[in-house]
Amino acid sequence: GKRDFEVPRKGPEEVRRLAATLYEMTKELKKQEDWRHHLMEDLTHELRTPLTTLLTQIEAIVDGLYEPDPERLQDIYDELIRLSRLVNDLERLSEAESARFSLNVRRTNMVDLARTVHSHFLPLARGKSIKLTFEPAYVPCYAEVDRDKIVQVLSNIVSNAIKYTSEGGRVNIAVAYSTDRTVIRCEDNGIGISATDLPYIFNRLYRADKSRSRFSGGVGLGLSIAKALVEAHNGTIEATSELGVGSTFTVTLPNTFAPYRGEDA
Ligand code: ADP
Repeated sequence: GKRDFEVPRKGPEEVRRLAATLYEMTKELKKQEDWRHHLMEDLTHELRTPLTTLLTQIEAIVDGLYEPDPERLQDIYDELIRLSRLVNDLERLSEAESARFSLNVRRTNMVDLARTVHSHFLPLARGKSIKLTFEPAYVPCYAEVDRDKIVQVLSNIVSNAIKYTSEGGRVNIAVAYSTDRTVIRCEDNGIGISATDLPYIFNRLYRADKSRSRFSGGVGLGLSIAKALVEAHNGTIEATSELGVGSTFTVTLPNTFAPYRGEDA
């Protein structure tokens, strides 16, 4: 079989350290290569169906088999919109995957950041008569994060919560801290995710219910982008859910600074 690169056990310290670094780099490159390979497979699969549909429809119009009536053109247009959204999301996923090499990290008040996201989504929630609430931590908690990236994470989660919750529902964003981490939770009483789908929702291009998500315009990349960005911050992202009851998404980020407790004011 193939021989693995081996880290020498003997020899000068520097040489061993260099070898170990090279070994880690090789492993990392292999992982990236596998990732790209799977992405290509997924993408090919994802692009083939809509492209075939579009081709067939447009060919029929070109061949004069039927008139390009408004309804048919609308279908074609919708499919093209979905494809271009897919391409946009892919670009962001690719950025997210390499984010850990280019994080613009700053000490950030996580309550303020989550509150900003909450305010941003109020109009969208109101449009669906969804009660979008915000529950801050009692003390400010700080984490070292790339603000734009974490805003994107929370936006993906909150927009899903609104998207997958019916009119008149509830979505709550809560921020809590413990000494070493900030926990941001987004809870909805929406359609929920089945136990069979739940383990896969953070995978690229995964949609719990194809027809449902197609209708809502999702391409199934939002959560994989969120996961990549959170992991770039050494954080975690998890979901619990029950079909027909609701879902809770929990983002945990390590705090670099102890939360401010007021004693040194
Ligand atoms: P999409 O673009 O399809 O929303 P995501 O990666 O954001 O892709 O989410 C993946 C899938 O997880 C969705 O298609 C949906 O089935 C499910 N999902 C995500 N968030 C929720 C939620 N809050 N409630 C119910 N289902 C959800």
